[in-house]
Amino acid sequence: MMLKENPYPMIERPFKILGIEHIGIAVDDLNGISDFFDELLGLELLSREKIDDQQVITDIYETGSGKLEFLKATDKNSPISRFIEKKGTGMHHIALKVDNLQAALDYLKGQGVQLIDTSPRIGVEGFKIAFLHPKSTGGVLIELCEKK
Ligand code: ZN
Repeated sequence: MMLKENPYPMIERPFKILGIEHIGIAVDDLNGISDFFDELLGLELLSREKIDDQQVITDIYETGSGKLEFLKATDKNSPISRFIEKKGTGMHHIALKVDNLQAALDYLKGQGVQLIDTSPRIGVEGFKIAFLHPKSTGGVLIELCEKK
């Protein structure tokens, strides 16, 4: 079988993925969450934050190797409300840690990847974050984040 010629020029990748930062989960209600994840599994609730520009409240639990980020909408126009309307509650996105977010976005854009955010914005825990469109990632919403 002939391999297809690589359509991309060989450019050195100017960033590194450092691991899974968290998994984002869309929920209707945060109250039942702690009963299971805190009381039964013994995970520590690290923070509860209201993120105004995304119209969500987040509860973040530490698992020891990657966090769980529960997202509840604060408004019916929140992206999380629209997600739950279409797909129901459940896994919303995977966040990957990256060493240089802007370099990653510029590189991926140059490779034809569809970006939701073309430049970093400030997300939960003060991280710089940006989302990639699921059309380019095999159907999963991917968040890239860089710890300042
Ligand atoms: Zn996230």
